[in-house]
Amino acid sequence: MTTGAGARLLEGAPIAEEIRANVKADVAAFTAANGRPPALAVVVCGRSAPSMVYLERILKACASAGIDGRFVDVEGESVTAQAEGLAAAVRELSADATVSGIIVQMPLPAGINLRVVVDAIDPLKDIDGIHPLNAGLLRLGYEGFVPATAHAALEMLERSGVVIPGAEAVVIGRSPVVGMPVAFMLVKGGATVTVCHSRTRDLAVHTSRADIVVVAAGRPGLVTGRMLKPGAVVVDVGINVVEGRIVGDVDFPSASAVASAITPVPGGVGPLTNALLLAHLVRAAQRQSAESAATHVSPISAIAPPPTQGAS
Ligand code: NAP
Repeated sequence: MTTGAGARLLEGAPIAEEIRANVKADVAAFTAANGRPPALAVVVCGRSAPSMVYLERILKACASAGIDGRFVDVEGESVTAQAEGLAAAVRELSADATVSGIIVQMPLPAGINLRVVVDAIDPLKDIDGIHPLNAGLLRLGYEGFVPATAHAALEMLERSGVVIPGAEAVVIGRSPVVGMPVAFMLVKGGATVTVCHSRTRDLAVHTSRADIVVVAAGRPGLVTGRMLKPGAVVVDVGINVVEGRIVGDVDFPSASAVASAITPVPGGVGPLTNALLLAHLVRAAQRQSAESAATHVSPISAIAPPPTQGAS
């Protein structure tokens, strides 16, 4: 499908559907072999409306894939009590052999450091790639768990046939959840990557020479058509609410007049993120099951085969 302005529309739903079909088949095979389905624990600490919407979507996706989705609600009268409850819950889930993967809804309540979760989560169950072990594996070019959103941005490019080796790529945003993992994956794929952020002096200088632009800044309208090279591929990861509407970080009308392909918001990267999270869960479950016979499982050997020859 193309946009009104002629750019190819990179929609997430058809790719997500394909991924979900594979997940469903893998879940059925895992359940038949293990006598139980893979289980995903979704930990929520301090309920907020967006958290609950996200949670409902994940649990619904689990149910339709045959995954045992478990909601773990951590409460506490004070921030200290919440932090202790969160650490205890994540530690318990990490030790529970029937739980294959754990995600903790972000952002955490004010005053609770991510370290509380990182110190308690088993890296083998860290399917959204927040543990430093998984971040380090990505950095070294080994296979581990990468954040699902960053994976979705790359999957969108790869499944849409965009050529990454040799491409000039610009990533806007340097967060550990989106920008940096996207940049590392693009480098691994053979692109020449520039990472821009809020201190970048002139964004357009960088974006105007890029074949691929991935935007993850959380700033509506940050990238316009005038900042793009004609024929660029634009992946908009941003999610912003403007006047009650969900919009990305890219000014879609002007950008789609210049780009050769562009993701819409909503309907681009978003639908892929949840599907990939479930694919990560299945991979975690399969690996834990395959390794369960071993007396000792090193987190590194279990999730990280050495890079293939010639890989960067
Ligand atoms: P974040 O932690 O707030 O990071 C935003 C990044 O953008 C930072 O590196 C920041 O630079 C940079 N930035 C901010 N303003 C900028 C500007 N004017 N020019 C250039 N760079 C700028 O956000 P995040 O968690 O990475 O998320 C990014 C966006 O993706 C948000 O809109 C979020 O809602 C969305 N998101 C989407 C999904 C999905 O499934 N599609 C999932 C997660 C997040 P500094 O580092 O210098 O501050």
